[in-house]
Amino acid sequence: MLGWDALEAPSARLSSYVAFGRRESGVWRVDRPGVSGEGFLLPAGESASFTLDLPADSALRLGVVPAGGGTEALPLVLRVLLDGQVVGEHRASTAAEGEAKPQVERLQFDLGSARRRGAELTLEAVGDFGFLTVIAPGVAPRQPPSRTEQRRPPDLVLFVADTMRADLLEAYRGAPGGPEQPLTPVLDAFVERSTVFERAFAVAPWTLPSHATMFTGLQPEQHRAVLGESRLPRSAVTLTEVLRGAGYRTAATTDGAFLGPSFGLDQGFEWFEFDQHPHDGRTDVFDLSVERARAHLAADDGRPLFLFVHTFRLHNPYVWTPEAEARLAPHGTLELTYEELWAEFSPTLVEVLAGGPEGKQREAWARRQMELMYWAGAIDFDTQMAAFLELLGQHGLGQDLHLVFTSDHGESFRKLLIHGHATGLEDDQTRIPLIVHSSRLAPGRRDAPVDLCDLAPTLAELAGVEYDTRGPGRSLLRTPLPRPILQHTSYVRPTLRGALVWPERFIFEEGGRTTVADLERDPGEEAPHEIVPGSGAELEARARDLANTTHVWQRRFALTPELAELDTAARNELRRLGYLGDDEPEPARDG
Ligand SMILES: [Zn+2]
Repeated sequence: MLGWDALEAPSARLSSYVAFGRRESGVWRVDRPGVSGEGFLLPAGESASFTLDLPADSALRLGVVPAGGGTEALPLVLRVLLDGQVVGEHRASTAAEGEAKPQVERLQFDLGSARRRGAELTLEAVGDFGFLTVIAPGVAPRQPPSRTEQRRPPDLVLFVADTMRADLLEAYRGAPGGPEQPLTPVLDAFVERSTVFERAFAVAPWTLPSHATMFTGLQPEQHRAVLGESRLPRSAVTLTEVLRGAGYRTAATTDGAFLGPSFGLDQGFEWFEFDQHPHDGRTDVFDLSVERARAHLAADDGRPLFLFVHTFRLHNPYVWTPEAEARLAPHGTLELTYEELWAEFSPTLVEVLAGGPEGKQREAWARRQMELMYWAGAIDFDTQMAAFLELLGQHGLGQDLHLVFTSDHGESFRKLLIHGHATGLEDDQTRIPLIVHSSRLAPGRRDAPVDLCDLAPTLAELAGVEYDTRGPGRSLLRTPLPRPILQHTSYVRPTLRGALVWPERFIFEEGGRTTVADLERDPGEEAPHEIVPGSGAELEARARDLANTTHVWQRRFALTPELAELDTAARNELRRLGYLGDDEPEPARDG
């Protein structure tokens, strides 16, 4: 299906030639701080040789990360030889601590214009100390054939703005609680030219299960990545693997934490870069993602690209620039930073929460401040999106590049203590933007309820590959079939399960009460109705039916759960995001 027929030899993925091991699907993978993917380690003084057929005019492309060496004092050089002749060298260098630059250097070595059968390609790490990590090494044409020559499948970009509530965007305005005036003019203008799924829902109110669903099409209780220390089971068949198997180049840039390799979401990615410290107060974290995305888009080797971009830019602890603060003026004034707010509240929280009208007033003020902080971050994010959308425009957005823009959950400011997410299934935590920009879909609004299970089938259909996810989702290119939107969180106890049949949302508390809210009459879900014996035979029967439905998928096909193996750094990063217990001062609970 790739256009390689026109060439004399296929693209060679060198990680499948390595003699010392195979980890996944016949390919050796590596994990390094900040990057994982297909590749191998090359200790100083060692070499790796591969015998392969080279097409004419080919090049070796790879990424390289030094460790232990790559400094002035301990130089490390990657040398490439073809049939014993040096064709190129590169002196690897380590990014300085805190330096906002990608960890991985991207290299290309010209392998000459002659076609060679049985050529010996050698990679050497020249130096006395340390080792090089080689990422996604492959041989392909130096100048890939153009798309039209090649009729290759389209490029696909999945963009996740972590923690983005739908109502930050103008297109989703209307429910109570959102900003009164537009915050996101760049995205709003883009949305006007795209397909908007007005009733789009996350399957869970927190990061890990929602992303695991995006990459598998499975419900949370099928993929089982539902606890703070779960990981996506290795037995899952991910969209990324399916696309990789169909000849796609698979690349990701994420802000880490749950979006790091420990949680398994890198499965199938040839090149998966992640930020190790997304939340050290920088407002430019997303700019680095844009730069990495730019490099991936530019690194065309003739294969179609599946690019996943994720950012925590909107996640707490909220940060913003002075420009965003100025533009926030019509909504209100920020009086302190997020850290200052918690420093002020933590010692007196109990009194504030218990303390009569004055306490209530203080609590409302703090919640409003946090909401303004969240909006200020959204203003910055929107400004940064201009560069990203322009970049996609240069690479065929709307023609042979399709974009799915979404989020993994929302953000709640109902209560001071449980501001954030992971704690409830109501719209403020689970209603998300879902925008598709594709030549295969007419711009406009769609009001059928859809959820994150639909993304994998949609992307597979856009790519033209078969992928039976074994979940309930359906490609958004097709007419939706009515089905309940099922939601789940076991981050808090008791486990909550939700079933939404528009406009009613049922929430089943495990071993506890069942409620229903009408999202048209009570869009803020302020007064859900508890279903008890005597609520009415018809309503009780429907609730029972839906409660059973929430278990159907789990019974039909569920993976065996696996736990993530976390080191101290990974644990600390999750704590900074509010996960894994309360031993940090921040009472926020989210992820
Ligand atoms: Zn998230």
